[in-house]
Amino acid sequence: MKFVELAANLDRMEATSSRNELVRILSDVYRASSEDELGPITYLIQGRLAPFFEPVEIGLGPGLLLAAISTAYAAKKEDVVKLNKQTGDLGITAQRLAPASKRKSPTVVEAHARLYEIAKAGGAGSQQKKLDGFTSLLADLDATSAKHLVRITLGKMRLGIGDPTVLDALSFAKKGDRSLRPVLEAAYNRTSDLGLIARTLWERGETGLDALKVRAGHPLRPQLAERLPNPEAVIKKLGTVGVQPKYDGLRVQIHKDGDQVKLFSRNLESWTDAFPELVAAASKLKAKSVILDGEAIAYNPESEEYVPFQETTARRRKEGIQEFAEQVPLRAFVFDVMFRDGTDLTQLPYERRFAIAQELLQKSDTLVTAPLTKTDSAEELTRELLDNISRGLEGVVAKRLDSPYQAGARNFNWVKLKRNTSGQLNDTIDVVLLGYYRGKGKRAEFGAGALLAGVYDSDKDEFVTISKLGTGLSDQGWRDIHRRLTSLEVLEKPARVNSLFVPDAWLKPEIVAEVLADEITPSPRHTAGMSADRSGFALRFPRIVSLRTADKKPEDATSVREIREMFDQQRRR
Ligand code: ATP
Repeated sequence: MKFVELAANLDRMEATSSRNELVRILSDVYRASSEDELGPITYLIQGRLAPFFEPVEIGLGPGLLLAAISTAYAAKKEDVVKLNKQTGDLGITAQRLAPASKRKSPTVVEAHARLYEIAKAGGAGSQQKKLDGFTSLLADLDATSAKHLVRITLGKMRLGIGDPTVLDALSFAKKGDRSLRPVLEAAYNRTSDLGLIARTLWERGETGLDALKVRAGHPLRPQLAERLPNPEAVIKKLGTVGVQPKYDGLRVQIHKDGDQVKLFSRNLESWTDAFPELVAAASKLKAKSVILDGEAIAYNPESEEYVPFQETTARRRKEGIQEFAEQVPLRAFVFDVMFRDGTDLTQLPYERRFAIAQELLQKSDTLVTAPLTKTDSAEELTRELLDNISRGLEGVVAKRLDSPYQAGARNFNWVKLKRNTSGQLNDTIDVVLLGYYRGKGKRAEFGAGALLAGVYDSDKDEFVTISKLGTGLSDQGWRDIHRRLTSLEVLEKPARVNSLFVPDAWLKPEIVAEVLADEITPSPRHTAGMSADRSGFALRFPRIVSLRTADKKPEDATSVREIREMFDQQRRR
């Protein structure tokens, strides 16, 4: 497939506001692809060159792209800058200056390989190498291809194709319906690599997908916890449980494969460079290969206190990592092990896995197992919960001792219990900002008066609205958020957003906000959970608690299914 054909399809996908249509176009693209094109196409349509967990970045910012556009199309730099001010979109700027068509277009595989080479350029003179490589690639492209190449390079695809859309499109391409989705999803949960899954399906069919196993170096999608209203409900539903403190740090997956250690965040970004002390501790483990799951939290050795979440996340900045590692070192409370010395442990009962983790970590001060208490009594579980809260922790996680590690699942293998502020929901909700209203009076001065917020429907790969948010931020908070919102503004409602409201400005779904509300109520105006015979859900008295940019992608926001369960639970309380 030529890059120009892919670009034409990206244009078609951009133009549609129907998700079914998006799936159809993408499945046509897959049907027309050969095996070696599946990987590159899968990564490129998501604005990537490799799976999300591989830190492969092209490394060309807007300034260098302007220079490349000017050289490739022999336009004066000032003119390119001026045009770009008018269009406000570097992709469109490149499109306007590139020739409408080219006799020869590189193939998708070639374009991907050339971008990969640009990404890999390092060391002295690498910036010039990157710039030259990109300029020569641009010069080979027609207008539509140039637009998409620039957007891919900036990681700013307008489409926002989520993982479920890719999985549906692969299923449609092979079967003409969604029937392969469960097998595809299971393989995806174990490997987190959509390109690998596409290739495997084409080369080795469904059995090939089943044979894709957990392996060190490739993150699994994390197992997540369900909610129940109180300790009694937990014991009633789960019986005997293992109870652990719920630490308010950062979820971290630790992989050791021979001499190499890699760390991944909750949403599977590579965090290896940010936490050298965890890397050092993991490389000392007595195992050839291992995958651990845990919560990393900064610890102040002088005051012997754990540092709040916000400060732990500050470590993700590039500067001062080494100083931080010395002054406020991290500790990881390990609560699971999924792989050891070539063996997949995910199917073992939790109690066995935990024992293996304990044995592995005996000698480490940095990687320590989270304490586990076994109980079948609601009173004891309540005591544990209160005790952990009084020690400044978030609450507890109760786990079924006989449960496997189910990658990517949120189910009753794990149940989280948090502080219960009476009368309110006992958990916050993570919403995605979908649009905003400019506001009146004082609010108008800040640029934004209220935010339109939604949750995620993973079956449909769609964001549906649940609330308008107007409280929780300080004056400065509103100004700051407005600045971030403007960079995400889009002219039309994105295809993946399903809303009856029309805000003053639509946003590309990206920012996740943590919101506290009193209650979930039925609503005829919000699309969360709405169907032909059912009204939607809304939040009563919502207020913003924090912006969760560190560890959550929009698809990691609270799901419609969770909202429905929280609604049912509050009625039972
Ligand atoms: P939250 O906002 O409550 O952290 P979440 O969506 O990030 O929710 P949940 O599945 O709801 O994730 O809660 C589990 C999270 O709690 C894990 O992702 C992990 O980061 C954290 N955690 C802290 N301590 C533990 C523990 N002992 N066992 C499992 N998870 C723990």
